[in-house]
Amino acid sequence: MNDKLVVTGYIIKSVTYLENDAIVTLLSADGLLTFKARGVKKITSKLARLINLYSYVELELTKTGKHYILTNGTVISSNSQIYNSLDSMCLLGLISESILTFLNEVDISIFILFNDLIKAINGEFDPFTMTLICLSKISLKAGYGLNVDECVKCYSKLKIVSNSFKLGGFICLNCANGEALESVEYLKTVRYVFKVDEENYFHHVISKKLSIRLIKEILEHLSYCFDYPKLVFSDMINNLY
Ligand SMILES: [Zn+2]
Repeated sequence: MNDKLVVTGYIIKSVTYLENDAIVTLLSADGLLTFKARGVKKITSKLARLINLYSYVELELTKTGKHYILTNGTVISSNSQIYNSLDSMCLLGLISESILTFLNEVDISIFILFNDLIKAINGEFDPFTMTLICLSKISLKAGYGLNVDECVKCYSKLKIVSNSFKLGGFICLNCANGEALESVEYLKTVRYVFKVDEENYFHHVISKKLSIRLIKEILEHLSYCFDYPKLVFSDMINNLY
C-alpha cells in the first residue's frame, strides 16, 4: 500500500546510508520526520538538491512499508549563504543537534524557534542571542528549565543574588552559602531567556560575551542531565569561543 505525504520544513540532518542513499531528518511545524532519499549521492541525482542542510523545502514522500521515501519536491529557500559563515554553521549545528538529542517530542514551538534562528542568521537579528533563547527553550521543553521566579531553597523573591544550574534556579542572599554571587545583568538575562515569549524573541540583544557564557552553561547543564551524550557541536562551541 502506498501513502503519499507532502511536508514543508527544514532539513536538519542527513546521513549517508549504504553507498548512494541518505537518511534525512526534516523539522516541520508538526515535528520531526525521518525519511530515506535514494540515490542522492550520485552526481546525476535530481533529488540531491532537496536534502541540503538547512534548506527550507517542500517534499513529496511515499510510504513504503514502515519507511517514507523521498519522491519529489521543491526548494523554497536554499539558505546556501549559511555555508559561508563558520558562526552560522556552528550555531545551527548546535541547535539541530540539541533538538535531536534532548527532545522526545518536537512541536510547533520548536519549529518557530528554529525558523527565527534562521532569520537571525540571515541578518534579521543577533544570532548568538537567538541561539541562547533556543537552548533555554529546549531545556524547558526537556523538563530541565530553571526556576527564575524565586529562590529555589526558601521561595523568597527578594535579594536574588545567584543562580545554580545544579539546584535548578535562583538563590537568594540568605541561602547563598558558597554559591558565586552574580551581577544583576547576568541574573536579568537568565530570567529573560527563560521567560521571553515567541512574539518577543527579537526584542532584546544580549552581549556576545554573556550569550556565549550562558550557551556553554546551559549545554553543560543539559549534558549533565542527560548523562553526558557526545555533542559534536558542543565541543566546537568550546573550541571556537
Ligand atoms: Zn533563599
